[in-house]
Amino acid sequence: MYDEISAGAVLYLNDEPADITYLILNYSYGHWDFPKGNIEAGETELETVFREISEETGIQDIRIIDGFRQQISYKYRKKSKLINKAVIYYLAETKSRQVVLSFEHNNFGWYTFDQALDKLSFENSKKVLRNANQFLLSAQDLKGRSVKL
Ligand code: ATP
Repeated sequence: MYDEISAGAVLYLNDEPADITYLILNYSYGHWDFPKGNIEAGETELETVFREISEETGIQDIRIIDGFRQQISYKYRKKSKLINKAVIYYLAETKSRQVVLSFEHNNFGWYTFDQALDKLSFENSKKVLRNANQFLLSAQDLKGRSVKL
């Protein structure tokens, strides 16, 4: 039913002593969104997440946070064809601040929750971020460090 399915991650940096920040990329289409990419034949969703984050950012050390998986969908026009697309997002942590962009993106930034909400172009991605941030708070995954709602 979907023409394209991608997988990606709400990737956050947890390098003390700074508060956590989320990685948002500037796509060549112009929008700002999380790292993601098409699930290739034979790949699991998580294999795609690891591969895409590595290809798009150079970051290798990611830890998937258990229990978070969210799907969004949208339609866009590719030439004259209407593409029905789904994207599945996981939540992942890294300790690597350094990003090496691929040709697919123009820019990137590590943003606090408020800044990332502002930066993300689409409401469906903002909703994923709100849920991810809430999930981290509830799971107390950050061991007492503050995450702003
Ligand atoms: P991928 O990173 O999955 O390989 P891509 O770089 O080929 O994807 P998209 O990011 O899906 O392409 O962008 C394709 C089109 O869809 C663009 O016109 C973009 O504006 C639009 N688009 C991207 N993300 C969303 C979204 N979350 N909601 C609505 N429209 C979106």
